[in-house]
Amino acid sequence: MNATIAVLAGDGVGQEIVPVAVKILKAIGEIYHHSFEFVSADIGGQAIDKVGIPLPQETLSLAQQSDAVLLGAVGGPKWEGLEYARRPERALLGIREALGLYANLRPAKVYPSLADASTLKREVIEGIDILVVRELTGGIYFGKPKGIERLPDGSERGVNTEVYTTGEVRRIAKVAFEAARRRRKKVTSVDKANVLESSELWRKVVTEVHQEYPDVELSHLYVDNAAMQLVRNPKQFDVLLCNNMFGDILSDEAAMLTGSIGMLPSASLGARVGLFEPIHGSAPDIAGQNIANPIATIASAAMMLAYAFHLDQEAETIERAIVKTLERGYRTKDIAGPGTKIVGTREMGEAILHHLQ
Ligand code: NAD
Repeated sequence: MNATIAVLAGDGVGQEIVPVAVKILKAIGEIYHHSFEFVSADIGGQAIDKVGIPLPQETLSLAQQSDAVLLGAVGGPKWEGLEYARRPERALLGIREALGLYANLRPAKVYPSLADASTLKREVIEGIDILVVRELTGGIYFGKPKGIERLPDGSERGVNTEVYTTGEVRRIAKVAFEAARRRRKKVTSVDKANVLESSELWRKVVTEVHQEYPDVELSHLYVDNAAMQLVRNPKQFDVLLCNNMFGDILSDEAAMLTGSIGMLPSASLGARVGLFEPIHGSAPDIAGQNIANPIATIASAAMMLAYAFHLDQEAETIERAIVKTLERGYRTKDIAGPGTKIVGTREMGEAILHHLQ
């Protein structure tokens, strides 16, 4: 296949980890005879330094015209003094909005050789492979009315509105069922249908959409129970389907099961172009030292192959290479343990590249 990939490395460790992931994608292109074209552009603090704004029109147009976007991270102490609207992080909101990214996919997977990095017992988390599918553009973070108003007695009243339409629930439910089809075919939909009407609608629509996916198993769980089950017995989950707020919270909880932030990829999907990025930030404390863990970004590139291009076999090749590299004892500093080989960002990339073959 032919594809154009927008490469937005951004700030801090983004400049180190993104080139490593691009190298891996190039190698996959060669092995499987795909033609990937990589076009780089500035975003975040890097763009502010060059043109004064975090998301130049040129970058946005490139993202919109590409087949997928690979993003590193934005932000850093250098730009912290700027007013909020001019900060590097605004670029993230801008690009997500422009691409209409309504679905956020965050896998939480425990690699067997890293099971001891988690704060939970090995037997609880060994083998977990969960995908949190979070609705990203609706719900209580965007619903109206919202705001803080002053009451006649001088006190204040803060309001947010949890609101979902049939269409919004349908499209995110479809993402979850489609994702489950390429995994273990189980969706757990999370809601609070015992007290919230919006959740009642959520549950009804998810159940209706399920009719189109008879090969996928569906169950429903109240969010409080889901939070509990995630630490009690996380292995029961395959795909967790959540609204915006529940997904925000549960995806962080699921991420922490695995131990290290440098290992966690994400995908945000919209009508056409998807965006793939590690969940961590620009890590200014370790930037420029060749010690950042590139695995989250490499795994994000694997998600791009699977979710943007439907190249499941190619994505699995990357996943297997990561597993093999970890089994051979290669570790960046953040995941190092006794008896392992500490390597730098580029060396970790080279080791994974080697294990692709
Ligand atoms: P962070 O994720 O950058 O770092 C948190 C901690 O995790 C740090 O100790 C860092 O060294 C470590 N870490 C992160 N990625 C790592 C990796 N690949 N390998 C090894 N260790 C890693 O979060 P922060 O420090 O709160 O934020 C730093 C900057 O990044 C801020 O400007 C923030 O706004 C921005 N940020 C950007 C994004 C994004 O671009 N999507 C996300 C979060 C934060």
